[in-house]
Amino acid sequence: MNTCSKDPSEYCLDCKNCLIMKYVRFGVTDYIFLPLHVPHNYVSLKDNKQLSAGFYNFDKNKTFGHSESLKLKPKKEDSEIIRILFKV
Ligand SMILES: [Zn+2]
Repeated sequence: MNTCSKDPSEYCLDCKNCLIMKYVRFGVTDYIFLPLHVPHNYVSLKDNKQLSAGFYNFDKNKTFGHSESLKLKPKKEDSEIIRILFKV
């Protein structure tokens, strides 16, 4: 249950209630999630180019931030695709 009381526009990186993970997108539905302490560029899929990368708040179904290691940011449709894939 989400008991977060922060405004949806806040990133919640220090939030103890929201589940937040980094992600890298390689294809239409090819999302890889990783813990916050792992750099985005640690994950790779052979012959696949990264399309987008950033952070995802599972409790608020919201992408935010950007990847410094990959120089990529979330795409507009990412949060909706992740929501459908994980039935968030
Ligand atoms: Zn929160």
